[in-house]
Amino acid sequence: MDQNDPLASYRNAFHIPKEDNGKNWLYFTGNSLGLQPKSTKLAIDQELNDWAKLGVEGHFEAKNPWMPYHEFLTESMAKIVGAKPIEVVVMNTLTTNLHLLMVSFYNPTPKRCKILIESDAFPSDRYAVQTQLEFHGFDANECLVEWHPRKVETLLRIEDLEHILEEQGDEIALLLIGGINYYTGQYLDLKEIAKLGHAKGCKVGIDLAHGVGNIQPELHDSGVDFAAWCTYKYLNSGPGSLGGIFVHERYANDKTLKRFAGWWSQNKATRFNMRQPLDFTPGAEGWQLSNPPILSMAAIKASLDLFNEVGMTALRQKSLKLTAYLEFLINELNHPNINIITPSNPNERGCQLSIQVKNADKTLHKQLIENHVITDWREPDVIRCAPVPFYNSFEDVFRMVEILKNLLK
Ligand SMILES: *Cc1c(COP(=O)(O)O)cnc(C)c1O
Repeated sequence: MDQNDPLASYRNAFHIPKEDNGKNWLYFTGNSLGLQPKSTKLAIDQELNDWAKLGVEGHFEAKNPWMPYHEFLTESMAKIVGAKPIEVVVMNTLTTNLHLLMVSFYNPTPKRCKILIESDAFPSDRYAVQTQLEFHGFDANECLVEWHPRKVETLLRIEDLEHILEEQGDEIALLLIGGINYYTGQYLDLKEIAKLGHAKGCKVGIDLAHGVGNIQPELHDSGVDFAAWCTYKYLNSGPGSLGGIFVHERYANDKTLKRFAGWWSQNKATRFNMRQPLDFTPGAEGWQLSNPPILSMAAIKASLDLFNEVGMTALRQKSLKLTAYLEFLINELNHPNINIITPSNPNERGCQLSIQVKNADKTLHKQLIENHVITDWREPDVIRCAPVPFYNSFEDVFRMVEILKNLLK
């Protein structure tokens, strides 16, 4: 499979962490922190050199002028999430962006004040929603609605969301859902969620932290109102790097939405007149506040250039095979304590498989790390393993499962 893999050579475009003896780690945590493209250093050096050479003039004279720098990322990012360029911008970090977007898309009234999330939402999203509710004077216990898996099940069912919306839809202002759940790896049908939410008059927002660069969410066609994501997971842009947002085209010139603004929200034509009344720049760019951090954006640009070269369609094609291979080998182990909780339908997952270990503490995970198999552990009992099509090989997957097999003996 590696010999016939058209993307095999891209592994060399990344730094793969190594043991002291030079042997590569088996790295399966691109869902947490993607590996560093070799081109990243060059891209950051370019900006450091231009800063040294040009000082403030770099805003206009740098090889990639800093003034419009975020625009260099927009088109590639839009392609990755299936959006129009006017719908996307790279700015801030993910949780900050969720708050800013809720300023616009969570406008509660006493009758319609609730927010719906997955019961197993990522903690940052839960805290963001909880504090938004409290900020607006609502009781988070009463107004936070959870979409639960059924008893003895681990995955969410769309029928259950439908049921909640039938009962409480008129009281729900916003659905904020993880496009791919960080814990189970379940990929939800965004179009269906948008349709159900909108039918009840709710706004619909998606956290794509685990989806971007992994699956093809087709955000524009899905019809969701907004989305936000980070770029340090599957987009390989470095620890704590910036996030991206999507705001559907239908709001591109909507002046009625509430927003928090800064000078970078302002129409570009008048931004530097400095004394103009606030006039939001059209599209997602109008949600920006500050002039962007160029060093972080340079790392994003280096990574997006690779995505542009390969394209999400080719990456997803390889990803489907790579993850299917991991699933096949784990199922072959046929071990009573090991159970994959991620959906077996490839259309309902990205590259990550979440492996539930029965009656386990963290020992098995620790032993994997000792063997330089890097996966991550999520309480109470799940090992998350994400073979990434850009830099993981079929051999990586084979060797990982061999080591797991020996540890389970
Ligand atoms: C990774 C992740 C975050 C992290 O948020 P930051 O603001 O970038 O620290 C938030 N939500 C989800 C669903 C995530 O997967």
